[in-house]
Amino acid sequence: MSNVNKAALALGTQRSVIRELFEFGKKRIAEVGAENVFDFSIGNPSVPAPDCVNETAIRLLKEMDPVVLHGYTSAQGDADVRKKIADSIFRSFDYKISPDSLYICTGAAGGLCGCLNGLLNPGEEVVVFAPYFPEYKVFIEKAGGRMRLIPADTEHFQIDFERFEEALGSNTKAVLINSPNNPSGAVYSEETIRRLAQILEDKSKETGSPIYLISDEPYRAIAFEGVKVPWVPSYYRNTLVCYSWSKALSLPGERLGYVAVSEEMEDHDEVYAAVAGASRALGYVSAPSLFQRVCAECVDDTSDITVYETNRNILVKGLRDLGFTCVEPEGTFYMFPQTLIPDDVAFCEKAKDFNLLIVPGAGFGCPGHCRISYCVPTQRAERSLDAFAKLAAFYK
Ligand code: PLP
Repeated sequence: MSNVNKAALALGTQRSVIRELFEFGKKRIAEVGAENVFDFSIGNPSVPAPDCVNETAIRLLKEMDPVVLHGYTSAQGDADVRKKIADSIFRSFDYKISPDSLYICTGAAGGLCGCLNGLLNPGEEVVVFAPYFPEYKVFIEKAGGRMRLIPADTEHFQIDFERFEEALGSNTKAVLINSPNNPSGAVYSEETIRRLAQILEDKSKETGSPIYLISDEPYRAIAFEGVKVPWVPSYYRNTLVCYSWSKALSLPGERLGYVAVSEEMEDHDEVYAAVAGASRALGYVSAPSLFQRVCAECVDDTSDITVYETNRNILVKGLRDLGFTCVEPEGTFYMFPQTLIPDDVAFCEKAKDFNLLIVPGAGFGCPGHCRISYCVPTQRAERSLDAFAKLAAFYK
């Protein structure tokens, strides 16, 4: 009988709902052909990285001293890379940040783990808003904390402030937000961020210790026409931003992102050191060197995200015409309509009969909904409406 860590074993052996769907999809593709399976399960970008990525990678491989290019960088990332990112943040948000407030990490996931492990003492709480990215619970608990989940504001997918204020207490160490949001596609408005910041400021004063705001932003670059994603550190001084190029540059497999520790944070130097220390303890030092440099060169570029907006328009209209209720996403490549019956798990199971692979909302803390990842070719999104029509007809 194995004597390994039980929690780790459970995580390593449980199959996720999304992985189950993926396996099911492979089987169905073999039976009915790829064009007849509508796999909306996984959030893998469907558009290629912009030209800048390959061009820069090839140039660096040809021109840079390979010993340097493939060598370790500083633990917190190459200094020149961090300077380029800091300059980009200033250009984009008119926010001055020192390269020494940036920690280059392996995707937003690496950044989140660095922040949570750097901030949390055993048993401290992190407030999370439903619907939420399920890995948050795993990351928070591994860092010794507890997740405090606030039920969703299903009307707009902003924040239910009444429930939020009730949940804040002396044990609240941090609040973790994700906008643009996976799975709802909602973008927190400036008003939402302002109100959130005011409540955190007041509560921190009352308890005498800062409540940190961790802003998980892998989808920041994927906001649709006319939508502004507020730069959170401009509204709340105790913010840590976890950014990633996984979706912005379609590079999820290259594992690159950064943590930005707000310049005005009251205990900035200790927090930055703790994030660096936690990352060190986790082995997250010197993120992949070639792609640090590639991302820094392409920092103001994005993949062609217009396909996501086109798909959003097709699916929101198509599903509403079929009787679905859906908050219109303002960014990402996800939408989160209500299921046509309250049991979202049964609904998504039934959808498989029509070769529609969609994910139940329960796993995101928001039952009665389902997530549709529309990072697929537009033709596939269009053709899926027939399958959705059959699914809707089944419940008529
Ligand atoms: N946070 C959210 C909300 C996500 O959806 C994802 C990935 O899908 C991550 C974090 C992790 O992203 P990364 O690939 O940057 O680690």
